[in-house]
Amino acid sequence: MAKVLIKTYGCQMNERDSEQVAQMLIARGHELTTSEKEADVILLNTCSVRDMAEQKALGKMRLLAHHHKGKGKVLGFLGCMAQSRGSELTAKADLVVGTQKFHRVADYVEELLARKAQPSMDDARFSIVDVEPEPGSQEEIRDHSLRPRQSSAFVSVMQGCNMRCTFCIVPQTRGSERSRAIPEIVREVEGLVARGVREVTLLGQIVNLYGRSEFPKVEGKSPFVQLLEAVHGVPGLERLRFTSPHPIGYKADLIEAFSRLPKLAEHVHLPLQSGSDRILKTMHRGYTAEAFVALAEKIRAARPGMAITTDIIVGFPGETEEDFQATREVCRRVRFDNAFIFRYSRRKDTPAAAMEGQLDDATLEARNQDLLELTNAIIREQLETYVGHRVEVLCEGPSKNNPARLTGRTRSNKIVLFEGGEDLIGRMVEVDIQRTSGFCLYGDVVSRLLS
Ligand code: SF4
Repeated sequence: MAKVLIKTYGCQMNERDSEQVAQMLIARGHELTTSEKEADVILLNTCSVRDMAEQKALGKMRLLAHHHKGKGKVLGFLGCMAQSRGSELTAKADLVVGTQKFHRVADYVEELLARKAQPSMDDARFSIVDVEPEPGSQEEIRDHSLRPRQSSAFVSVMQGCNMRCTFCIVPQTRGSERSRAIPEIVREVEGLVARGVREVTLLGQIVNLYGRSEFPKVEGKSPFVQLLEAVHGVPGLERLRFTSPHPIGYKADLIEAFSRLPKLAEHVHLPLQSGSDRILKTMHRGYTAEAFVALAEKIRAARPGMAITTDIIVGFPGETEEDFQATREVCRRVRFDNAFIFRYSRRKDTPAAAMEGQLDDATLEARNQDLLELTNAIIREQLETYVGHRVEVLCEGPSKNNPARLTGRTRSNKIVLFEGGEDLIGRMVEVDIQRTSGFCLYGDVVSRLLS
């Protein structure tokens, strides 16, 4: 049996896909490892959203090939970059598996291991590439390999995106929208809760438009709201989240769901991308800055304590200083609880890559820094409002940066660090918040909540 190392780049969808691959390999008797030296198989699950993510994975594979040459290891690319580059990657790896074929990885790994075990095989000449679309592949991301006392889990509910935002490569790497059926998803959540999970995050590239072309509205409720209601009904589940949504998917039925479904956590991600109407139009985002601000106000009004986080691209082709100032203005008005700011990254075969007015690196960097300063100051102010208050925290485990401390999240998705014994891991606790670093909260546990 082989030892397998899986390294994941990019978003939570990729994390979830890697978990599925890991679970399938474990089910076949293989073992996971974090040691490159020990590993017989090294798989990089890749991201294509920004050029930097692709370069990191390519650089990593170059190093792996150099260090492990002639040792009979299987090296593979999975996921988005594998999908978009396909057989071009076989010069660098033995295995290239796209986004609709994760369920085939275990078969392919075993085939490659068997070939490499035969000394006569010229393994440098043999590789497997599978980037074909597969109907029904969205149903295959459904198994979990949970850590002991793991309290939260991701559940993939749909794959792909039909939106065609002009900067985005996802519709090409992930294909068109395909959703799983509600009873299947509910069964998966029930299984997770039975194994001790208390919080699930429903995942999709455009999650709040889940099922829009496959399932009908019922009593005026979208398929996504029907899904939320069904998952909300799972006994023992305590918190429900979803990501990543699109602003146009927050219709009245979804906003209203926040007022009546108490397990829905007080946090929504609302990707702004730009605060300039002109840029939003060329991005094909389908809303204006005013509509976005009004939506954020409605969402905050639906539930007290609601946190709103966002993604923003600075330096989209043709972005003027005036456009950039419009983005700053929306940030000042909405006061995001967290903001992921990205310099525009030109992605091959996207409409924006061919647009005129590509900005230079210095402008991208200056705008990136400027917006980070503004949003970080607001994020700190938002965090300071928690100091002196008691919050409910789901304890995830030791902090990565300081394993002597425990970490968890509030319902509004703020990271909290606190001291406590291992018995708190996987538990819901009440914490008195004492201070903030500007990025997370620090506090003292006052009680363990019974549930
Ligand atoms: S909605 Fe999201 S995933 Fe879909 S094209 Fe736009 S940015 Fe990409």
